[in-house]
Amino acid sequence: DTWNAMSVCDPVTGMHSLFGASLPVRYFVPQPRSRFHGEWNERDTVELRKLVEEHHEELAALILEPVVQGAGGMWFYHPQYLREAAQICKEHGLLLIFDEIATGFGRTGKLFAWEHAGVEPDIMCIGKAITGGYMTLSAVLTTNEVADTISNHTPEVFMHGPTFMGNPLACAVACASVKLLTSPEYDWQGKVTRISRQLQEELEPARRLPQVTDVRVLGAIGVIETKEPVDMAWMQKRFVEEGIWVRPFGRLVYLMPPFIIEPEQLRKLTGGLMKIIRMC
Ligand SMILES: *Cc1c(COP(=O)(O)O)cnc(C)c1O
Repeated sequence: DTWNAMSVCDPVTGMHSLFGASLPVRYFVPQPRSRFHGEWNERDTVELRKLVEEHHEELAALILEPVVQGAGGMWFYHPQYLREAAQICKEHGLLLIFDEIATGFGRTGKLFAWEHAGVEPDIMCIGKAITGGYMTLSAVLTTNEVADTISNHTPEVFMHGPTFMGNPLACAVACASVKLLTSPEYDWQGKVTRISRQLQEELEPARRLPQVTDVRVLGAIGVIETKEPVDMAWMQKRFVEEGIWVRPFGRLVYLMPPFIIEPEQLRKLTGGLMKIIRMC
């Protein structure tokens, strides 16, 4: 299970080089360049269309992270890409798989990121926030068509599973967390909107720093991109001295706070972050 999941990760940042020829080889296309809040450039899907047209007979599915690419650069791309990708898949009978593990459960301002595009996947992977981060659990959701096809024709694909698969305690936590998240009193949308606004306000000044190339915020995700890779070991130590825990990687420093964070707690995070970024 792990080899195949790993094989569809970004070949560069996904550490494929460590595993050499053991990993199944996949086709990858360049990342969409049209920004989430920017204008759609139709050249973005040229490579995807070309690749699918050339190889559709050997392809089963297209997998992507909708709207927000995480390890691929904390990049927010235009929702039109998802509509075009869905159309290309439909034309060639490919399944569309969305990895909503990082984006699901309200993080981008919609309950699921595909709602920004109004495109439903055939298969959706969810994890992380499914339990509010309290316990490890992930799940794969499919359409009835995919589920019935597997059940009726190839049930053996799910014969082998990990011991704690569908762990009852983790499932109970997930049910409790989702129930809380979706209860009207919790108002996750209000919380995400407030966090988004505050991230925007408090990270925006970083744009004027010469060492910064971009500041972007979507939902409860705030990203500062630097021109040069940051010294991660140095930076992490400085963050801890500020009393905050932030994990930088490459040219990216980002915040994905829990929705229950209070404004002054978020200010401590953004304040500490800005202080250390200024010292880079
Ligand atoms: C964390 C993450 C994964 C890995 O999920 P696991 O449940 O740890 O296998 C996959 N995709 C995205 C987008 C993630 O953020």
